[in-house]
Amino acid sequence: MIEGIHILLTYDCTLECNHCFLHCGPHAGGTFRLDQICALLDQAIELGTVTSVCFEGGEPVVYYSLLLECVRQARIRDLGVGIVTNAYWATSVEDAELVLRPLHEAGLDHVTMSDDALHYGAEAGKHRLRVEEAANRLGMTVSVISVEAPTVIGATDESPAKVSGSVMFRGRAAERMTAGLPTRPWDTLSSCPRERLDSPGRVHVDCFGSVHLCQGLLMGNLWETPLKQLVAKFDPHADPIVGPILRGGPAALVRAHDLSHSEGYVDECHLCYSARQEMRRQGNQASLGPAQAYGIA
Ligand code: SF4
Repeated sequence: MIEGIHILLTYDCTLECNHCFLHCGPHAGGTFRLDQICALLDQAIELGTVTSVCFEGGEPVVYYSLLLECVRQARIRDLGVGIVTNAYWATSVEDAELVLRPLHEAGLDHVTMSDDALHYGAEAGKHRLRVEEAANRLGMTVSVISVEAPTVIGATDESPAKVSGSVMFRGRAAERMTAGLPTRPWDTLSSCPRERLDSPGRVHVDCFGSVHLCQGLLMGNLWETPLKQLVAKFDPHADPIVGPILRGGPAALVRAHDLSHSEGYVDECHLCYSARQEMRRQGNQASLGPAQAYGIA
């Protein structure tokens, strides 16, 4: 049952991180208009199960006046509302408060922010302190997403070398952060470890209408088929991409579509992304998109 909609307000971002699971950056584009946000929120209400929305990206604060109205529009519809931000705007406590106060007055009570060495290098931790202090003054709460760089845990007599860390090897991360890491045989990657593809509790939506089950893997397009109908008619087990993944992970997707592959991949998501990228190159743009998820048109 879909209870949350994560709204990719834009694919634009102030940063262009190697570990991004999309291909966000300063010129990525793909920004909602306000009328599209209102239509999406109405579709979310129509679905009957959605209780909250979260505005993210990209970096949603880049489009601040739009974001402010988005928060208001969600609250008008009695939806819980959150944002995810890299907090680039928190250059001081006072400046952080300048950003947060109008959002709080519009109905935002909680901020989720990224702050780690992958985003800010030696400056990691400073944005967090500023946002926490500003939020505290306003009576808001903050949670922090901190992604660790991949590290290799050495092989032992009992087990081969492994990769630890919290990077998800999809999107740009799959292309830029996998070199030199130990791999596992492709045909052993036989389950999806992170998403409930057959019963999602939340989906991501962008301005193109893409309804993402996982980044770049689409349930359909809500500008073409309203979300309520899309959810009602979606049969994950019969879907030509989701079905194989459910039955046997990314390895089954490769077999089902006779896709080319290397001998080894860092993890399931690395193979899944690579396989889906090949399918998109072959022309499957209806279920695999948009360009900002794959780094290719
Ligand atoms: S295996 Fe594929 S569908 Fe599952 S979480 Fe990884 S990238 Fe997403």
